[in-house]
Amino acid sequence: MQELDTHTFRLAVAQFDQAADAMHLDPRLRERLTLPQRSLIVSLPVRMDDGRVEVFTGYRVQHDSSRGPTKGGIRYHPDVNLGEVAALAMWMTWKCALAGLPYGGAKGGVQVSPHTLSHAELERLTRRYAAEIFPIIGPDKDVPAPDIGTNAQIMSWIMDTYSQQVGYAVPGVVTGKPLTLGGSLGRDEATGRGVVSATLEALRHLNLSVENTTVAVQGFGNVGSHTARIIQEEGARVIAVSNSRGGIYNAKGLDIPELLRRYHTTGNSLPDTKMGESITNEDLLKLNCTVLVPSALSEQITVHNAAELRCRILAEGANGPTTLDADRILEDNGVFIIPDILANSGGVIVSYFEWVQSLQRFFWSAEDIQGRLQRIITSAFSRTLHFSIERKTSMRMAALMSGIDLVAQAHLQRGLHP
Ligand code: GLU
Repeated sequence: MQELDTHTFRLAVAQFDQAADAMHLDPRLRERLTLPQRSLIVSLPVRMDDGRVEVFTGYRVQHDSSRGPTKGGIRYHPDVNLGEVAALAMWMTWKCALAGLPYGGAKGGVQVSPHTLSHAELERLTRRYAAEIFPIIGPDKDVPAPDIGTNAQIMSWIMDTYSQQVGYAVPGVVTGKPLTLGGSLGRDEATGRGVVSATLEALRHLNLSVENTTVAVQGFGNVGSHTARIIQEEGARVIAVSNSRGGIYNAKGLDIPELLRRYHTTGNSLPDTKMGESITNEDLLKLNCTVLVPSALSEQITVHNAAELRCRILAEGANGPTTLDADRILEDNGVFIIPDILANSGGVIVSYFEWVQSLQRFFWSAEDIQGRLQRIITSAFSRTLHFSIERKTSMRMAALMSGIDLVAQAHLQRGLHP
């Protein structure tokens, strides 16, 4: 499929191929798991505030539903394309399997820069997108969630549009909803909290103390900002953060709650908070620190900059931030990688809790959510670590092989229809 052939899709397939080779994956499954099970491309005519009609392109890709309904976020970004969405959907499949969630992977996207739209335009775009993907989503089919450029408000519009079509409220059709619509406590910070849990496990494994840990976080959105706040609460020193426009560095450590207060009043400009010296995103990646957390877009760490990274641990908050060539360089340099499908799985894990609560109409406490999240992540971490030591393979390959193996077993047990 030519439209799939983009660099992000090639990265996801190259990772899959490497893991499939190492585990001698049944050849009958290989081609099927390389390609998505179902891909939908939709064109979305939207009436703009000035009366013009603009047509946007949207996608929903379901990579594999052998283990349950498919699950994954919706991304609003100008660079979204079918290949990227398909890659992200494939990563969701392995991520859900590794965490032991009864889901397959999916992802959606709309090619749009959401900040250029008014609130009303964003609502019309979202409702039209939800109406177009309506036939393939649902609480037992495919459950969207937020991702880059989307949030709880957008999930509410999707939930409402879906509910209008079927004639009754269906909170379980999306996760990442506001609490008032049946959202879950702790969903907002879940990905960041999971990144921190996995990082604390890695520090323990490497005999490093959290008090002497310095952290640099690339990306200050839903993942990066909560990661920075929570890891500081745990006792680490956050020395740098950045967003797409650049970042700040302060060797003494940034006071994250104060930074967050100022950030919102400076129109999301980190340098304008005056809490550290200005640095670029590229400078941030090369800082001398214990933990580097890329939590923005994919393919940030490549063959061009990997040799210059100075971190001990790379905790991948983003999906696909590291290319395969870069992996090899980091491994040679002794960087301990917590791969994306493990490090950032906190988001989909709490999405699963939200979905269960929505289906049961019975809600859990914040302590319950945090405790269960931590148990799932720490157990996935230790299983991956043991696998990697036993099989003498990288943490990335260990995580991928464990996820792929569970999906392969499901396929073989179900057999081929017809
Ligand atoms: N977008 C998040 C991810 O990439 C969360 C997906 C979900 O909660 O379904 O893992």
